[in-house]
Amino acid sequence: MTKPQIVWLRRDLRIEDQAALRAAAEAGPVIPVFVLDDETPGERRLGSASRWWLHGSLQELGDALNARGSRLILRRGSAAQVVSLLADEVGAGAIHTIRHYEPWWVKAEQDIAKRVDLVLHDGNYLLPPGCVVTGAGTPYRIFTPFYRAAMAHMPPPAPTSAPHFHAPARWPASDRLDDWKLRPTRPDWATGFVEVWTPGEAGATERLKDFLDVAAEYETTRNLPSQEGSSRLSPHLHWGEISPATVWHALDGRQGKGSESFRSELFWRDFAQNVITQFPDYPDRSFRPEFEKFRWRDPAKDENAKADLKAWRQGRTGYPIVDAGMRQLWRTGWMHNRVRMIAASFLIKHLLIDWRSGERWFWDTLVDADYGNNATNWQWVSGSGVDAALFTRIMAPLTQSAKFDAAEYIREWVPELADLTDEDIHDPPNRPRGYPDQLIGHREARERALSGYRAMKAS
Ligand SMILES: Cc1cc2nc3c(=O)[nH]c(=O)nc-3n(C[C@H](O)[C@H](O)[C@H](O)COP(=O)(O)OP(=O)(O)OC[C@H]3O[C@@H](n4cnc5c(N)ncnc54)[C@H](O)[C@@H]3O)c2cc1C
Repeated sequence: MTKPQIVWLRRDLRIEDQAALRAAAEAGPVIPVFVLDDETPGERRLGSASRWWLHGSLQELGDALNARGSRLILRRGSAAQVVSLLADEVGAGAIHTIRHYEPWWVKAEQDIAKRVDLVLHDGNYLLPPGCVVTGAGTPYRIFTPFYRAAMAHMPPPAPTSAPHFHAPARWPASDRLDDWKLRPTRPDWATGFVEVWTPGEAGATERLKDFLDVAAEYETTRNLPSQEGSSRLSPHLHWGEISPATVWHALDGRQGKGSESFRSELFWRDFAQNVITQFPDYPDRSFRPEFEKFRWRDPAKDENAKADLKAWRQGRTGYPIVDAGMRQLWRTGWMHNRVRMIAASFLIKHLLIDWRSGERWFWDTLVDADYGNNATNWQWVSGSGVDAALFTRIMAPLTQSAKFDAAEYIREWVPELADLTDEDIHDPPNRPRGYPDQLIGHREARERALSGYRAMKAS
């Protein structure tokens, strides 16, 4: 009898175009396993919104595997230990897994490989990090040359279909998903999530299909929060419910600026992995060392800064575009990209609060919270990153709001302002009852930020 093959699943919760599942299925009976590991990532254990998503994704994957005569085994604990012990328990021939780049997963892969036969596969990115390097043989730190070099390797291999599974002679025991209590009950803060998202591979495929209808206009509509111009595939891509190669090839035959621009955005995911592979503590440390000397207002020591951080989180800054974004995030676990940039810039430059406070809040509240993507973008906005906007370019939220036509978006997420005209809504001349005054005026905030920056440079 051929030995069973374990497939260790993490953020690759799909059956189609899943190289680890395919290779395992070709080698013998397959035992797919997911380990809920709150130990190995340390402070980077899954955030609340991620846990909500994970429940749905595992549920769907389990059902899809059952329908194919297979199962999803759930275990809990330190993944390296749990997977190695499971391999002993079932007499596994090998463990197959898609390679991950978060530092704790790299370490876990090394630990497992010391004890059992671990086979690593690619497929969560368009290119495995490390594949493209500069002329000097070093990894890229700037997106545009990285993107140009990566494009020379495109297209990615055509996606593969779901494999045929053979069941093992005996299934190992599994936890019950409901016992993990990944979803909130009292209070259930996720009712808005259900209205917007369908976690899982089928939901991802459906989302991609909807996007293809509007992909031609992506170049212009992606920046407009009031329209559904972007794909909203980010949580599906983050959880690996659809492979980037599948997304890429779905656009085949659709020439034009929309598809081109969308494909280039996909490379930001690859770029972020390329960054954390070089700098594994990127979410915890400013890449530019001078930013470690920035005298941020510290919510742990300063009551006003603490109150400002709370107002930002709750969407009560008095800047409608910022508040709309922060409330969309709280209610749905997602925020439009343009508004993420404005809200992040507001926290860092208007409120002068360290980018890491914002990164942590997003880590807990985003359904697409991603170790690489989140930090790369926060450090881009703060000006402290490898490839970053200048700190001194301070986004004006009110101008941005009007420029990107956010009136309808604000009406949806800040109902107190719903009756205001398109002209007034970006900066209400009279604040309707219950809507707060601005925490700080734009000009004053700008001066304070620039003076903080000058002090950092001089220190
Ligand atoms: C402060 C800040 C924090 C962010 N944190 C995250 C995060 O934790 N996880 C995350 O996936 N994205 C993050 N982003 C990037 C971006 O906002 C989201 O990927 C995008 O809004 C997702 O919407 P979409 O799927 O409709 O994107 P689309 O515009 O349809 O783009 C397609 C895909 O490309 C990828 N992508 C697009 N833009 C970026 C980008 N700037 N960086 C990395 N990948 C990108 C995503 O996987 C996205 O699904 C952050 C951006 C900012 C400014």
